[in-house]
Amino acid sequence: MAKLVILGSAGSVPDIEHDNTHMAIVDTEGVILIDCPGTPIVRLARANIPFEAISDLIITHFHPDHVSGVPLLLMNMWQLGRKDPLRIYGLHHCLERIEDMMGFYHWDNWPQFFPVAFHRLPESERVLVLEKEGLIIYSSPVRHLVPTIGLRIEARDGGQTIAYSCDTEPCPSVVRLASGADILIHEATGAIVGHSSASQAGAIAREAEVDRLLLIHYHLGKQQPVNLVAQARETYPGEVELAHDLMEIDL
Ligand SMILES: [Zn+2]
Repeated sequence: MAKLVILGSAGSVPDIEHDNTHMAIVDTEGVILIDCPGTPIVRLARANIPFEAISDLIITHFHPDHVSGVPLLLMNMWQLGRKDPLRIYGLHHCLERIEDMMGFYHWDNWPQFFPVAFHRLPESERVLVLEKEGLIIYSSPVRHLVPTIGLRIEARDGGQTIAYSCDTEPCPSVVRLASGADILIHEATGAIVGHSSASQAGAIAREAEVDRLLLIHYHLGKQQPVNLVAQARETYPGEVELAHDLMEIDL
């Protein structure tokens, strides 16, 4: 059975218990990584996800808390003798910068480097990102400081549908992307430009008529608001939970 694993739940500043927000979808066909901060090989080991099983990487936008681990991911794959191609999906804005970033590392000179295929996603709603035997993933643009996508993951054969807002202000395309989903994973950084508060996430979840809301990408430590779940409950009558690192959701 496929599952979604939360590899990190923190906003832009992580701590010992919360890595930057990223996740993995694991099934019998392989692993799809969604964003790539930090030291991916260590994080995946902690989650008991085989590093060599990564087949696809979706990058939601080009901000350090979402892409900083990409050079290390690619270098570690190469050093461990990877031969299989890796597919990387994202908007042109993001993939262009990933290619530039890898250019600074002179990856064109890395001997016997495995093939990397870039899939540029159009900046429109419900774009098919990838399709596997057991699931299908769509993307839609959301409203952040740079071009950014949210995702909708639909498991086949009566499995769950999960929508992920990524970093965004409250925005109608997230409502459409999440419409009727079982779970909405929505960011809860705060009511600042390019982001959403927990109560705004609740309002989006209510509008999209999802069954369950999972708050992610939240501030930690001193900045931690008293109770994000309570704030979301003010605007959303369904089940609300705070995402935590290494949490697993069956698809
Ligand atoms: Zn972020």
